[in-house]
Amino acid sequence: MPELPEVETVVRSIRPHLCGRVITGAWHDWPRVFGNDDPNIVTARLENRQIRGVDRRGKYILISLDQGVLSIHLRMTGRLYVAEKEAVHDADRWVHFRLELDDGRALRFSDSRKFGRVRLGDQVATAIPELGWEPFDPRFTAAVLAEALHNRQRPIKVMLLDQTIIAGIGNIYADESLHMAGIHPATPALQLGGAQIEGLYTAIQAVLAQAITHEGASINWYRKPDGSRGAAQDSLHVYGREGQPCHTCGWPIARTTIAQRGTHYCPRCQVPPTQ
Ligand SMILES: [Zn+2]
Repeated sequence: MPELPEVETVVRSIRPHLCGRVITGAWHDWPRVFGNDDPNIVTARLENRQIRGVDRRGKYILISLDQGVLSIHLRMTGRLYVAEKEAVHDADRWVHFRLELDDGRALRFSDSRKFGRVRLGDQVATAIPELGWEPFDPRFTAAVLAEALHNRQRPIKVMLLDQTIIAGIGNIYADESLHMAGIHPATPALQLGGAQIEGLYTAIQAVLAQAITHEGASINWYRKPDGSRGAAQDSLHVYGREGQPCHTCGWPIARTTIAQRGTHYCPRCQVPPTQ
């Protein structure tokens, strides 16, 4: 599933093509893309709206309109790209939602598994669920992270995946952040000391920033809006590297399951929690 760096890459790529454009029509062939909302009402409300901005919150893409906000969640297999009317793209066969624009182009939402969702709200708060901290928000500090983890029994990996605590981290970057910080993913949050939490805070920011620089990880479905692959998968230290040597100590990377998610770590660099 695309995480913060992948969604950020999509947002940066489509933003210049969308800002200032007027939506001339909205097309769909899959009502569930709107969740429980009435497709006819949503598409009618999108018509003639001007796009004012394209941003990201957690793993959500936010398209601000002169009236309302459209959120798009890519989920498993969603791809988003702007294309000329007649242009043919590899992912077109899975397009189930499209915004037509006044310059003749269209924003196409391709999604083979059809788990992706589009939601129109009056404002951001009604377009997306309530989310936790943005990792790059200057108000999100190591002290804030320590407060969020205080007295929590759940494994730190589970806490990092909880979008109501920190928004945007998924399975890849949770594993990578914990490895960089030298913390075993099963460690109950309350066992972490101040120095460990500071290290984790620094690791989260470093891991996400580097993945944005590499324009996301194309491990499964994710592609950049121009159809090409991101490069972040080439710099991963643990995720997807089971049995391969740790880049730090040479020990084979291990894989376990935490909260039903495949979890990768180095058994030497990330010491298991005390019972
Ligand atoms: Zn190691």
